[in-house]
Amino acid sequence: MLPSPIPTTTLTVQPSPPPSPAPREHGDGGGLGLLLILAVAIYAIGYAISIHLHPLRTCRACNGTGLQRGGIFTGSMRICHRCGGTRRETRPGARTPDRRHR
Ligand SMILES: [Zn+2]
Repeated sequence: MLPSPIPTTTLTVQPSPPPSPAPREHGDGGGLGLLLILAVAIYAIGYAISIHLHPLRTCRACNGTGLQRGGIFTGSMRICHRCGGTRRETRPGARTPDRRHR
């Protein structure tokens, strides 16, 4: 076999590598995690309040029209199955607005 010397064009035109930065002291990542948990908790509380005040939102399947148009015959339409034509849907996590007698 011929020892075909593959021209390795490894032009390592690297400037002198910067000196390694100061090693971060890892192992104490509790500060960021705590902050994240706090942010999630605040978001959850805000979401819960929002859900309580506004349990409904615009139906995303029909964009609040209550109808879904046909794909081929654009003039055709049907009642949105998701919202049943009410043009609104219950937000995730919210209780159903219809309060039946218990
Ligand atoms: Zn809908």
